[in-house]
Amino acid sequence: MVAELQGIGMTSRRTRMRLIQRLRESGIRDERVLTALSETPRHIFLDEALAHRAYEDTALPIGYQQTLSQPYIVARMTEVLMEHAPSRVLELGTGSGYQAAVLAQLVDEVFSVERINPLLNKARERMRTLRLRNTNLRLAGDVIGWPEQAPFDGIIVTAAPASLPDELLSQLADGGVMVVPIGEASQILTKIIRQGDDYEVTELEPVRFVPLLGGVVR
Ligand code: SAH
Repeated sequence: MVAELQGIGMTSRRTRMRLIQRLRESGIRDERVLTALSETPRHIFLDEALAHRAYEDTALPIGYQQTLSQPYIVARMTEVLMEHAPSRVLELGTGSGYQAAVLAQLVDEVFSVERINPLLNKARERMRTLRLRNTNLRLAGDVIGWPEQAPFDGIIVTAAPASLPDELLSQLADGGVMVVPIGEASQILTKIIRQGDDYEVTELEPVRFVPLLGGVVR
């Protein structure tokens, strides 16, 4: 039994390192980000039936028509965020909690908001399992984001708005960075830096995310 478990552990370490190698080949350069991904067990963020595919570089379903993003995208968005060394980060779209768990290893505090309560509950349980005590998760409220905890010096949006909501821009600290996929059928990963009342916008690359929606699923 123990040998069997060790066997599983070793297999998953080897497959995890293969994924990290692939991310390097895809152009991910930030070693801190690569280390955080290599130390985050992606299989615990998936249902058992899909866990064996956890270290493939693909998006995978997590139920409720939502997906856990492709590791490359998680790494890329995290890398863009980390260029600006934020310490308090807001994530919009907790989903499985994987992105939040990666961030929790790199920044002081993570705040993450989800609109589907059953997904939120599972994500909370995973944070407890991994003892990531610097993560704060909550159900979406009337206003998008987490205005009570604003401003954030980093915001990462993991569902796509058709256009950028003003309420979210106002939660970004002066000098802060936001990474967000914007668009409907086709989306562009976009970086926004706030300088006072100015927002410097850089379009990065085409991506595919589920849409950012209003309302709450209990
Ligand atoms: N970051 C996640 C994947 C996100 S999938 C992970 O690492 O697993 C996108 C998530 O955004 C979905 O779970 C969806 O329910 C959520 N979402 C969509 N609109 C939202 C909103 N307005 N507020 C909060 N969460 C939202």
